[in-house]
Amino acid sequence: MKKAYQSHLSLKQPQSTVFMAKVHGCTITAYSSGKVLFQGGSHEEEARKWGNSLPSAKKSTSSPKGSTKLPLNFSSLSVMGSDEVGTGDYFGPMTVVSAYVSTQNMPLVKELGVQDSKNLKDPQIIKIAQDLLHVIPYSLLILPNPKYNELQKNGMTQGKMKAVLHNKALLNLLKKMNPEKPEAILIDQFAEKNVYYRHLQGQKDVCKENVYFSTKGESVHLAVAAASILARYAFLKEWDKLSEKAGFTIPKGAGAAVDKAGARLIRSKGEQALWEFTKVHFANTGKAKKLV
Ligand code: MG
Repeated sequence: MKKAYQSHLSLKQPQSTVFMAKVHGCTITAYSSGKVLFQGGSHEEEARKWGNSLPSAKKSTSSPKGSTKLPLNFSSLSVMGSDEVGTGDYFGPMTVVSAYVSTQNMPLVKELGVQDSKNLKDPQIIKIAQDLLHVIPYSLLILPNPKYNELQKNGMTQGKMKAVLHNKALLNLLKKMNPEKPEAILIDQFAEKNVYYRHLQGQKDVCKENVYFSTKGESVHLAVAAASILARYAFLKEWDKLSEKAGFTIPKGAGAAVDKAGARLIRSKGEQALWEFTKVHFANTGKAKKLV
């Protein structure tokens, strides 16, 4: 906190305090006991930046980003989970998967090595996914770049695209599994719940029953971990195809290597090739053009 108030520190430092700072309309006093006091007209506003113990800030106290509290035994329930991949990659499509892991299937799914994909390297993900595909019900949706670019150009945000695809993947899987039903649905949270449903206004069918949201969903339930692995696998396959088409291995992410690859693509195939290979609204497009 002291760091954050660095430029507002008061020269006065009363006894047993760590610092005292003054910002417009508020004095902040931090005691060595760990207690922090906010005083003045804007005390509420200032304090809210740090915590949520004030009654008026209640909305954000229960759980982050307005997610609903999960049932206690959640990780052992039969759950349908969903996750997406490719949203931050300049090259390659966005992929969304919903996957169902029943309580009964859990030992097998674990045995195959399913866990948080952030701890897994791509070759491991491919190996696990190839087994997993045959073991659990899932639904995969791929949004190719030309379609992505068209939607984006027409004003659709990436958040809305994600919401629409998650919803569609969940509905597809529910249909596929019918009459079996999951005990709960967990979406790896990318937007606040209300925002998610606002994105889905106007959709014919919205999956709402027993739907929960959680950030880091992969560590909350195996179903999201499985969905994440399958989505990554699908992304890697598409990325392979694109590399082949490009004639060179395209880099992942959205860094400097990507700008160079974009430039290389423009030189060999012309600027219009970006429409097929990339998410053209990313800043990488401008940088690639500059390089050319
Ligand atoms: Mg996710």
